[in-house]
Amino acid sequence: MKYQDTIAAIAVSSKNGSISVIRISGDDSLKIVSEIFFNAKNEKISLESCQTHTIQYGFIQNAKNELLDEVLVLIMKAPRSYTAEDVVEIQCHGGAFICQKILELLVEKGVRIAEPGEFTKRAFLNGRLDLSQAESVMDVIRSKSKVALENSLSQLTGKVKEKIVSLREMILEDIAFLEAALDDPEHISLEDFSSVMGEHTKLLREEVKYLLDNSENGRIIKEGIRTVIVGKPNVGKSSFLNCILRENRAIVTDIPGTTRDTLEEELMIGQTLLHLVDTAGIRNTEDKIESIGIEKAKQSVKEADFVICILDSSEELSEEDKNIFNLMRKKQGIILLNKSDLTSVILPEQIQKMTEKKVLPFSAATGEGLRELEAYLNERFMLGSVSYQDEIYITNMRQKQALYETAESLRNLSESIEAGMPEDLYSIDLYNAYESLGKIIGETVEDDIVDKIFKDFCMGK
Ligand code: GDP
Repeated sequence: MKYQDTIAAIAVSSKNGSISVIRISGDDSLKIVSEIFFNAKNEKISLESCQTHTIQYGFIQNAKNELLDEVLVLIMKAPRSYTAEDVVEIQCHGGAFICQKILELLVEKGVRIAEPGEFTKRAFLNGRLDLSQAESVMDVIRSKSKVALENSLSQLTGKVKEKIVSLREMILEDIAFLEAALDDPEHISLEDFSSVMGEHTKLLREEVKYLLDNSENGRIIKEGIRTVIVGKPNVGKSSFLNCILRENRAIVTDIPGTTRDTLEEELMIGQTLLHLVDTAGIRNTEDKIESIGIEKAKQSVKEADFVICILDSSEELSEEDKNIFNLMRKKQGIILLNKSDLTSVILPEQIQKMTEKKVLPFSAATGEGLRELEAYLNERFMLGSVSYQDEIYITNMRQKQALYETAESLRNLSESIEAGMPEDLYSIDLYNAYESLGKIIGETVEDDIVDKIFKDFCMGK
């Protein structure tokens, strides 16, 4: 392995926590920390001569021998460390100020401040993580729900990699056979190859399709069920949002059409993460600003996993209400008859005749119906029957793009086979599929893309 300069960053630093961690990685990390570390007897010791995976107790002192902090120093020698390089972690007491001082001291000794994601990038470059694992590190950090976390963790342990490697192996075998046969037609016959290839391609396409279909579930697990709230102005959309969030984030107002843009919120209902989108009132309008909001609302419904349609039960059903109904016809959703605390003009039975969706009396003012709605959503989206641990969900956009490319190459391949094209033409599509699958685990990713991916990480990771 070539020489790696030594980098450092504050890895854990919560404002109110009692311990912070400074992580140092690179060829000189042990040597450099030895220069500022003193043991309990106030003696300098060489951390290089300490055993790996041990903890040293002591103090950090600056060049003037002033005490900065009492610390624990963790030693993890290459390759058994996060980056596969020599790593030292200093656990100190301090808040931001002391951490900063220790970091400055390290820089004086020749350490460079790590760029965002640089530790994980090194882990990848040193072959300790594949790219899908490295990306899942970021997902683990950002996980919003337990299920999302489990999914990221399963990626981190290499489930995606395992699957992709096995698909690539299948392709590579076919490439190898094809190349060999083209090189040595006398001894290796391609007689049945196209039918074998046809079978293989079918299987590969099914696998890739499965991964792509599952990525939809993956998105839901990671980002929540995209739930769009629709209804004409003044039916109580903002009030509903406040009611379900039990806090006053959305501005509640009784002037029609003042929710001009979309408001987005996230909340957990049981095990399910809802990503709520409040749209501007959907109605036909001449007002330019408002009609932009309406376009957005229509778009939001299109992109929704679930639509919550709100009607004002204290008023007659209008044309606008009916238009909104049409908008959500093909979508999964529920209809709330809001303002049930007032005298009802619209009855649930009347609406139920018009739709197969559940119709629920509701009051954003009193909270009536909220329990029932939550129970409904929870039951509806309890993906509990799916085993998260064993499934593979590709949730990352970059990885998904690579899967689409693979699917495209395999489709071309199928077409060539069906059209009875000569076998030597297969190899281009086979290679392309092999390469695009490789992108998922970082086997065929250009350096600049690698840089971009790791820039998205937070510092100290
Ligand atoms: P939006 O335009 O659809 O977002 O509607 P708002 O949430 O701004 O509500 C419009 C008006 O209806 C406000 O005056 C709310 O106080 C009132 N409102 C909303 N929900 C209820 C409800 O369940 N009962 C009653 N009585 N009034 C409500």
